[in-house]
Amino acid sequence: MNILVLNPGSSSLKSGFFRFPEELALPGTAPTVAGLLTSAPTPIDAVGVRVVHGGSRFESPTIVDDDVLAEIRNLAELAPLHNPLAAGVIEEVRGALRGVPIVAVFDTAFHRTLPPVAFTYAVPSELGVRRYGFHGISYSYVSKRLRALNVALNGGSRLIVAHLGNGASVCAIRDGRSIDTSMGFTPMEGLVMGTRAGDLDPGVILYLLRKGMPEADLDDLLNHRCGLRGVSETSGDVRELESAAAAGDAKASLALDLFAYRAAGYIASYCAAIDGVDAIAFTAGIGEHSASMRKRICDRLAFLGVALDEGANNAASKDERRISSRSVAVWVIPTNEELEIARGTWDVLSTR
Ligand code: ADP
Repeated sequence: MNILVLNPGSSSLKSGFFRFPEELALPGTAPTVAGLLTSAPTPIDAVGVRVVHGGSRFESPTIVDDDVLAEIRNLAELAPLHNPLAAGVIEEVRGALRGVPIVAVFDTAFHRTLPPVAFTYAVPSELGVRRYGFHGISYSYVSKRLRALNVALNGGSRLIVAHLGNGASVCAIRDGRSIDTSMGFTPMEGLVMGTRAGDLDPGVILYLLRKGMPEADLDDLLNHRCGLRGVSETSGDVRELESAAAAGDAKASLALDLFAYRAAGYIASYCAAIDGVDAIAFTAGIGEHSASMRKRICDRLAFLGVALDEGANNAASKDERRISSRSVAVWVIPTNEELEIARGTWDVLSTR
């Protein structure tokens, strides 16, 4: 079966083309859905689309019909930046490839195993809000790789994965199941991100509302003008901040330190969620490429027995590799969300 994968993001459309069950990656990319559909190298038998928010309804990859598409649109209420993009892509594919099955693969689904203490906010249940968690497709891929690698190493199954990209989160995983994760009801909770603040006293929101800030400004502030960009006052890109910090920019240094401090704090607290930790993995743009951010984070975790092998950490490699010298194994695992979406698509279509 030839599976086209579409991973629509706010700034770009990522894609992949795979043959299953061999999990063979086939060549062929284009910047738009229309381009992908015409340049696909072989017949397209199925399409897998990443959908950020599956709410409480979608706990596994789901074949898209009218009802499923309508529900993905409804969930835009919870993920206004992301779900409409996916719904638009699905509609375009449906129009162009009549009869070809489309499977929605959800970022929230991996976190269906969160225990109540991890998914509950301390608010009245009648409000209907809970923690969902995101980046689940990436966590599913990385945890499979990490389990394979770490089981070979010492048999441990207590994993903490840090997905550090423009959006950033951390996930505690035990025996392959998500136990806690730092994003919540929306992808705004938790870590400092490129342009999102992450954890913030809700009193700050009340304060800004009382001062008369309109909701649209508040939305723009919290999604686009906070995080690394807000603190540095220059950029949300770690590469630019690292250069600026090296040139003596104190605000850039503080932004990077704050990012590392929050990430290390979450990793440390997740040891309490899974009774310790056997392996930590870094993935996504910052996690895979910024040796200095990995060092900033790991230096704060020395008390746990985390110690980087500086040579391995600094190596100019794009491959998955161990970068620690002591007992808590630290890994860089390049994520592959497109392959994981194809797997989800294959799983549901091959068993129907
Ligand atoms: P997205 O969440 O949009 O998929 P990515 O996972 O591609 O994001 O991560 C993007 C971020 O990764 C960039 O904003 C940048 O901060 C960081 N990044 C990418 N390459 C490097 C690098 N070589 N050094 C440091 N940071 C990097």
